[in-house]
Amino acid sequence: MAPNQPGDARNRRDAEQDRAALAPIDDAMLRAYLADNLPGGDQARVEKALRDSASLRARLEDVRNNRADVGLHTLGAIWRRGRLTCPSRQQLGSYLLEALAPDLASYITFHIEVVECPYCQANLADLKTQADASPGASQTRHHRILQSSQHLLTDENR
Ligand SMILES: [Zn+2]
Repeated sequence: MAPNQPGDARNRRDAEQDRAALAPIDDAMLRAYLADNLPGGDQARVEKALRDSASLRARLEDVRNNRADVGLHTLGAIWRRGRLTCPSRQQLGSYLLEALAPDLASYITFHIEVVECPYCQANLADLKTQADASPGASQTRHHRILQSSQHLLTDENR
């Protein structure tokens, strides 16, 4: 650091003057930044300020979250929320076999038929195809599990 060098001091003063002349980065500007709505110069300035300032990044997160609330009912928001609450593939498999607790089963029905989650619809269709291709598969597995527990029981009884 050499603050007494005239060149450095002048550059710093110039930079400060530039910053003062520009509009402050407020929430409205951050919102516009998120929406890709700023003129090129401002976009670059906000980007640089974000790189430099952790507190500004935190504010951007806040603005982003608030914006998500505003757009709660857009198709994209529903899709993103839906994906967060998607049942697992195993749960979908059990759903097909009607082996789920009624609460979970009705939730999945809602998810598939009302929310119409395309991801889970595809997953379910795929599982159905597999089940149709090998109708005895689950019985066979069930039988195997019975056999192996039978074996354990016999060992314990010995
Ligand atoms: Zn889903």
